[in-house]
Amino acid sequence: MSRSVRTRPEGSGRGLSEAYDTALLDLDGVVYAGGNAIAHAVESLATARAGGMRLAYVTNNALRTPDAVAAHLTELGIPTGATDVITSAQAVARLIAEQVPQGARVLVIGGEGLRVALRERGLEPVESAEDGPAAVVQGYGGPELPWGRFAEACYAIARGVPWYASNTDLTIPGARGIAPGNGAAVEVVRIATGAEPQVAGKPLPPMHRETILRTGARRPLVVGDRLDTDIEGAFNGEVDSLLVLTGVTDGAQLLAAPPQHRPTYVDADLRGLLAGQAEVTGDGDGGFRCGGWTATAGERLELEGDGEAMDGLRALCAAAWTAAGEGTCELDPGKALARLGL
Ligand SMILES: [Mg+2]
Repeated sequence: MSRSVRTRPEGSGRGLSEAYDTALLDLDGVVYAGGNAIAHAVESLATARAGGMRLAYVTNNALRTPDAVAAHLTELGIPTGATDVITSAQAVARLIAEQVPQGARVLVIGGEGLRVALRERGLEPVESAEDGPAAVVQGYGGPELPWGRFAEACYAIARGVPWYASNTDLTIPGARGIAPGNGAAVEVVRIATGAEPQVAGKPLPPMHRETILRTGARRPLVVGDRLDTDIEGAFNGEVDSLLVLTGVTDGAQLLAAPPQHRPTYVDADLRGLLAGQAEVTGDGDGGFRCGGWTATAGERLELEGDGEAMDGLRALCAAAWTAAGEGTCELDPGKALARLGL
């Protein structure tokens, strides 16, 4: 299906929590960072929910069960039930259940979240390639996962057992730096076997389908911090998206985004769910206005005026994305972003 290329963020006269029925929220970098809630998250989510917006949490992390994630959110002051949490473990379990006989054994290379999700689909988690598995599934197993688990996966895959992965995020950012994620573990097995897994997690369709099936959302808004998972997943599912800048994406990356990574809206943090979104308009002279700012694309990206930083960023998005068309903008945004303190 061909779609028009997005060349600017959308405006919204109404708050997004009124314009959309369900928020599909990423967790890390959006709601919390490490163990702690991100600034403004708790109050903004409470206000959105009081106004009637359904909140669902969508995570590529397959290690923790929905119960454990819900308990963590509730402890942070965001009352959440297990049915409000959708994980890539659930998405991959559904994918497997559609492709193997009912009640089949599945070799698990991962943690409790995967085992619980498999049992929910009537599948039997097993530990060894000698247990006669009909599928191998690999999800993040935490830092204590023994190396020998990868060998079990390789033995089964070499016999032709189909291989699945909950997600392929290469890294997990933590308090001490960047740790290898499930994508890195999948690479180990890929290198050893030469095989290719079927993958469920964001930005791929199985995860989006799982989310829509479980929430019943009719007018969903994806809210995320990562362009290549959250925003690309929304693009693939043809759903609107809000990028928040509390996680891994900075202004320069947003301005250089190719079409599938361009969000519908951008805001600093989850307060963006409540506010209207200022509209970007052309100034008739090749520039783009938003709030008190005007952005242009010349030898580099330029910004004039003053006002709210996010309005300046929205104007710059329009200038950069229009200049890039279907490609990525390579103009230097450094001076313009510095004016915004970004
Ligand atoms: Mg995230």
